[in-house]
Amino acid sequence: MKGRGSTSTTAREPRRDDATDLRIDPAGYARGVHQVHSPNCDARPPGAAITLAVIHGISLPPGRFGGGDVERLFTNTLDTSAHPFYGSLAGLRVSAHFFVRRDGSIVQFVACSARAWHAGVSTWEERARCNDYSIGIEVEGADSIAYEDGQYERLARLLRALRRRYPLTAAVGHSDVAPGRKTDPGPAFDWPRLARLVRARLLHRDRDGRLPGSPAAVV
Ligand SMILES: [Zn+2]
Repeated sequence: MKGRGSTSTTAREPRRDDATDLRIDPAGYARGVHQVHSPNCDARPPGAAITLAVIHGISLPPGRFGGGDVERLFTNTLDTSAHPFYGSLAGLRVSAHFFVRRDGSIVQFVACSARAWHAGVSTWEERARCNDYSIGIEVEGADSIAYEDGQYERLARLLRALRRRYPLTAAVGHSDVAPGRKTDPGPAFDWPRLARLVRARLLHRDRDGRLPGSPAAVV
């Protein structure tokens, strides 16, 4: 994708992948995406609009990719004796709406209409409890290991689909909403690259005509 979307002219041309792009249905499920139910969710507060996407990085064990332990963690079936690191995860009840694997395939754990438990204690633009009003997207990776081309492309498609369904104003890192406590998705995550991929569809729709202040914000 290098070079594409780097000019406003290119960015506004119709894209040939529109017909096969991801779609979020009215119930908050991504059509055609593998669904694995996580019980680690509950209802959003009444009237909470979904305005934020929080990007995370995760791998279990840390730095090792593939396998099914992220899915096991999010479905409360992880054997916490299987690796020394997992002891710190015992009893943890967490989830995310989406997980983007190294090969770019996506798993959905929680309907977008529900509140997934991904951000923890968090604040964005002086609003606390980001889980109330955000979509949590875990990208399989580690803070200092380059993410894969296919992950950026699928993540961008997912963000475009979410933007068509919900009034998203920003996509930010977990480290942006929980600074000092969280570092993911880490310095290896190429925000300018994601911004290029997403801005091609989204920036000209920004009614306020402004970008959010964080360099991590891309919508
Ligand atoms: Zn995170």
